[in-house]
Amino acid sequence: METIPVAAAPHGQPPDPMVGTESFMLNTDRICLQCGTTSNGDRAVVCRRCGLRFGDEPRRDAELPTCPICYLTVDDDGLTPSYRNRLQRISLVAHMEEHEAFPPGDDEWLGTLRRGDQIAVGRFNAPFDLVRRYLVTGQIDGGRNRTIQHNAVLTAMSQIKRWGPNPDVFGDQPAWQEARLHIAAVMDRYAQGRRTPW
Ligand SMILES: [Zn+2]
Ligand SMILES: [Zn+2]
Repeated sequence: METIPVAAAPHGQPPDPMVGTESFMLNTDRICLQCGTTSNGDRAVVCRRCGLRFGDEPRRDAELPTCPICYLTVDDDGLTPSYRNRLQRISLVAHMEEHEAFPPGDDEWLGTLRRGDQIAVGRFNAPFDLVRRYLVTGQIDGGRNRTIQHNAVLTAMSQIKRWGPNPDVFGDQPAWQEARLHIAAVMDRYAQGRRTPW
């Protein structure tokens, strides 16, 4: 962990506020690296959910926390590389703060397509969460195959994932073609807001 050069500030002057923010972001002493709970400023040194000491490595058998913005799961040490400096390892809380500068896509625009828990893709609808996960990770939740069979957008997503944007699909249907065109346009538009360095 880097040392923050607060002592370098002239006497009598408050430390640079940016330095203060940085030191908070680097500080994992107040964060549970197993579940992401923060200590909320009280004197607790142990996570009330896991019983783990703040800043300690997650237990080997623990389910590791996942970023709700980009679906990344932290590594075994409870940390993940920083977008700003890949050699630096940061907590999930600090990682989520980095998404303000490094969003996975244009979520403000995507929100305009939202209809409750669904997303409008052309004249089709699909579950918003499934589509967003696909746009960010390229993965489709495999546990819901029954839904996928009956949804043109999800069918289109799995076709593009398997065969690329212009597949030669056996028994292709006009509704699938149309859905592929629309979801491909949504993918392009969403990706325009992507700001991650890798
Ligand atoms: Zn915890
Ligand atoms: Zn993330």
